[in-house]
Amino acid sequence: MIPYGHQHISEADIQAVVAVLKSDWLTQGPAVPRFESMLAEHCGIAHAVAFNSATSALHAACMALEIGPGDLVWTSPNTFVASANCARYCGAEVDFVDIDPLSYNLSTVALEAKLVQAQRQGRLPKLVIAVHFGGQSCDMTAIGALARRYGFKLIEDASHAIGARWEDTPVGACLHSDITVFSFHPVKVITSAEGGMAMTGDGALAERLAMLRSHGTTRDPARLHHPDHGGWYYEQQALGYNYRMTDVHAALGASQMTRLDVFLNRRRELVERYHHELAQLPLRLPHEHSSARSAWHLYAIQLDDAASMTRRVLYDRLRAAGIGVNVHYIPIHLQPYYRQQGHAEGSYPEAERYYRRALSLPLYYGLEDAQQDRVISVLRQCLAGSTRGHARMPG
Ligand SMILES: *Cc1c(COP(=O)(O)O)cnc(C)c1O
Repeated sequence: MIPYGHQHISEADIQAVVAVLKSDWLTQGPAVPRFESMLAEHCGIAHAVAFNSATSALHAACMALEIGPGDLVWTSPNTFVASANCARYCGAEVDFVDIDPLSYNLSTVALEAKLVQAQRQGRLPKLVIAVHFGGQSCDMTAIGALARRYGFKLIEDASHAIGARWEDTPVGACLHSDITVFSFHPVKVITSAEGGMAMTGDGALAERLAMLRSHGTTRDPARLHHPDHGGWYYEQQALGYNYRMTDVHAALGASQMTRLDVFLNRRRELVERYHHELAQLPLRLPHEHSSARSAWHLYAIQLDDAASMTRRVLYDRLRAAGIGVNVHYIPIHLQPYYRQQGHAEGSYPEAERYYRRALSLPLYYGLEDAQQDRVISVLRQCLAGSTRGHARMPG
């Protein structure tokens, strides 16, 4: 099976991990701050705080921004459930903003319309979580302007978007947001096996994030509430978690980070081949905004109306032929858990329409040209069969 995404582990990655295993520090050693510095430098920002996943980084980010019961948090329905769950962990109510039919990101037009209405009802969100779908940044200039006008906080869920740019600025620079979160899960652009990172330009937020990932404790003499009892002394000042990244994971992440551009370039090359080879098929191909440079985590196509085949049939045929396509995403508001929170089908028609037709094709650094050719030719066979009305199983 050719998967839709896969990590690439080099000999240098293995050596970096082995070096940590042979060192004194498996966790809370020097590898974590080293990885953090690399990310901060890449993004051109002061602070990077590593976590054991993007999910925990998103949770800590919501906590650091003081999200709690009674608060409203808005995000895109077209994302992984973690983008919304982080607000629920804090007891906040989650609501959604429909997506833009071109970028599949949260629509700034829908966001503005919803804000106008929310202001009339006195129900403005305290926080918006903008998700950079597929590796392409949301229109952060527009969303940032709305955040200032309506007074909400802004988190970028950039789990797909390490290495991406918006208006020539790296995602993670937090030019328009309070905190940006990256994920290093193996299907993402670089991996630390499990891992995430929160970026911020705000020193107080960075300290709060660091405290929350380590039980809410601090040893910083400048921050102690009571006199220092001695060298062993620490204080727990908030209810935090053990959300720390280990040195083993950080060493893998740092080693991968040195190949970020290599990964991005190959992904872009594969994307250009897909664009070219699939142009004549009854598909809608992903679109890159002129101000965005995508990290191309996903190549998400939509089956057009001209194709007489359903997405479900196409998915099953491709899978049967060994092509590990996937679907990103089932709109979050349709998940039973969120329906129980009062969300219903029909609320976000663009996200639902997109979902009915979407399919993510294999895209990852190690995908070879010959494998991609096979994906393309099987897809062609499936769709040709479909329009002729006598589809056969591709060999
Ligand atoms: C992968 C992903 C997450 C969660 O990342 P983990 O590191 O697996 O916790 C959150 N949001 C989005 C959009 C993702 O794709």
